[in-house]
Amino acid sequence: MRADLPEDVYLWVNAAEGLTYTDAEAEAWQAIDPHFHYSRDPHPSLGAACRTGDGVLSVDGDGEVRRCHFVDTPLGNLYDGSFAAALGPSPCPLTTCDCHIGYVHLETLDLYDVFRGGVIERVPAVMPPRAPGPPQEAPHRPTPPRADGRPGLSAPPGSGW
Ligand code: SF4
Repeated sequence: MRADLPEDVYLWVNAAEGLTYTDAEAEAWQAIDPHFHYSRDPHPSLGAACRTGDGVLSVDGDGEVRRCHFVDTPLGNLYDGSFAAALGPSPCPLTTCDCHIGYVHLETLDLYDVFRGGVIERVPAVMPPRAPGPPQEAPHRPTPPRADGRPGLSAPPGSGW
């Protein structure tokens, strides 16, 4: 896929949840996505300043407002306005943050600048330079079984996701 795209088109590679990458494996993905290192490992977040709960919110279909998709504590409801009193800066209460839609809002990271073209959509401000030479074949790793015993999704070799 990377080889078929124009050089000025960014291809995002999301690290697989729950997998630990060796340096060699990460290097192969990094050759395809120069920003892969941001998603390689969960980000320590406990006590860190995070924009959620202030300028960023998560709202479900019933109007329940939470600071983000990962912290269960409700701030109030969108439709009765009860969430408004709870808005304001507050540190992350969780140990780590392992999803782009969450950690992109950490003030300890520079991702608002890196993805200034679209913070949530992961559009880089500038196209990052890739390693010289053709992209390496990214390693294919088996996906751990899901908790419910059903097979997990796995990426086909060379698919780039
Ligand atoms: S760092 Fe992640 S888990 Fe913590 S508050 Fe921010 S978005 Fe939520």
